[in-house]
Amino acid sequence: MSLVRDGYPAAEGMVSGPVHILTWGVPEVPHETIAPERIEEEVERFDAAREWAKGRILEMRSIAAERLGTMEARIFEPQLLMLDDHEVVDGTTRYIRENRLSAARAFDWRMLELQALWIRTQNPMVLDRLNDVEDLQVRVLHRLLDRPEPGDLEALDEPVIVVARNLTPSLTVQMDPDRILGVATDLGTRTSHWAILARSLAIPSVVGLLDISRVATEGQEAIMDGRIGRIVLDPDDRDREVYRQRRRRLQEWEEEIDLISKLDAVTKDGQPVAIRANVDLPSEVDQARLHGAEGIGLFRTEFLVVGRSSMPEEEEQYQAYRQAAEAFPDGAVVIRTYDLGGDKFPMFLQMTREENPFLGWRAIRVCLDRLDLFRPQLRAFLRATIHGDLRMMLPLVNDIEEVMRVRELLGEEEEALKREGVPFYAGYKVGVLLETPAAALDAAELARHADFFSIGTNDLVQYTLAVDRTNPRLAHLYNPFHPSVVRQLHQVSRVARAAGIEVSVCGEMAANPLGTYLLLGLDIPSISVPWPALPEVRKVIREFRVEEARAAARKALAAPTSRDVTRCLVEGIGASVDLAAFSGRWSLSLG
Ligand code: PEP
Ligand code: MG
Repeated sequence: MSLVRDGYPAAEGMVSGPVHILTWGVPEVPHETIAPERIEEEVERFDAAREWAKGRILEMRSIAAERLGTMEARIFEPQLLMLDDHEVVDGTTRYIRENRLSAARAFDWRMLELQALWIRTQNPMVLDRLNDVEDLQVRVLHRLLDRPEPGDLEALDEPVIVVARNLTPSLTVQMDPDRILGVATDLGTRTSHWAILARSLAIPSVVGLLDISRVATEGQEAIMDGRIGRIVLDPDDRDREVYRQRRRRLQEWEEEIDLISKLDAVTKDGQPVAIRANVDLPSEVDQARLHGAEGIGLFRTEFLVVGRSSMPEEEEQYQAYRQAAEAFPDGAVVIRTYDLGGDKFPMFLQMTREENPFLGWRAIRVCLDRLDLFRPQLRAFLRATIHGDLRMMLPLVNDIEEVMRVRELLGEEEEALKREGVPFYAGYKVGVLLETPAAALDAAELARHADFFSIGTNDLVQYTLAVDRTNPRLAHLYNPFHPSVVRQLHQVSRVARAAGIEVSVCGEMAANPLGTYLLLGLDIPSISVPWPALPEVRKVIREFRVEEARAAARKALAAPTSRDVTRCLVEGIGASVDLAAFSGRWSLSLG
């Protein structure tokens, strides 16, 4: 009988193949003491192992730079720093000298101590750091124990689905997308560094499967759907048939993408829709263009800094923004200022643990408190404005004072650039990302200070419904079609129209056919979606009339429950769009 496991989607794609269990663990290290005359020899062995590990990590870094770009390759920095960290090096050397432990034992011991220490501090960034620590530990210990380096994926003789407890960036970057069909792990989140890399490498991935590395066996047949976060082990004939059908549809669809991407995004009755892309990494910009984006509606700049051990430099950010602007000479590129905190913690900020990080020091709050971080971003943005229609968007704004403060800071940085003779375009726009009920209810005030609105429904839903967007137990309650959300969308749309400013939606709901339909029905004529969803969204838009969507939205606004809202939309869109065909691609659920 087949065994189905659901986790979280981290990188999309549907694949089938044999499982390869990747064991990447810290080895058992025997307790070994050494004779006093061997002490210096062990210290030297430890230093040599560190040097070797440094060489390996530098190698990985250059592979990453080649495959993904120099910015992404920076995720190896923390590991390089840790190899020379005095707490690691001095502590280990002391155990060799004073306790006469073998280099392997001393290093193992010291790393365990440091891990325990970091866990005790309960700093959220620890999660990130522990993964890096373990990566180093595994590498150096295998070297010191004279064992072959684990996790060798080169020797595989057929394409596989890798199953592991967790991955690391250095393992992921070694994966050749032609030979690694997909990845399924017990741990990890969509924002884990390795998952970000997997997305950039287009390797379908499912994370948070809890025990997949224990239940799966080497060579076992599996089908995996990275879009809905599911893996099926030992699929039966029915599963295989469903897989084949969906694969075929997906392939047909992929062939259609090229054609669709060139068509106008316009409804059947002639309403044009601006469709832009959400990107997490600069390397995704080209994909966005190829998939028909008219611009970038959300550039999540925090992924330039998460996992970094030092503050990002202005020049590097400028280059990233410039690259995006130049990729879209005729379209807007919306740069969202750092949305740090919540579930994204760069190491260098040393953020302390909070009881409710999503209600805590996050996004604009962090930027306004840490001008040493924020000012270089503002300068980089200003400098890049000469390369295209670059717009700045402020996340998690609750009131106008936050917008006014950012405008003040921008004014100061403009003055500084003028003094230095550095060019910028003064007519850039500053917009607000509405993500809280406070902002939605206060939209009329905010509209007087913002050049545009975008609605971040991912957060708006969690804050309106008090449902943590990352809590799998509450997933059934996290509903963007809740009447309270629909009403806020309507309210913001009306305010924006009255104020004469553009309003768009960049949350995931815009990529759902029902969501697209509702938003157009609410007179929100601009949306931004993850780039893989662009062709589908374009296709949906071309199949219905905006007048019908408006009628359905009116009914949805009067609906008493989420279920009723959904029903109004399904009935409305169902008259013109074959929803089953869309859901066949859109939600490739097996079984
Ligand atoms: C949102 O909240 O809808 C949004 C687009 O931002 P993020 O998903 O990055 O929080
Ligand atoms: Mg958000």
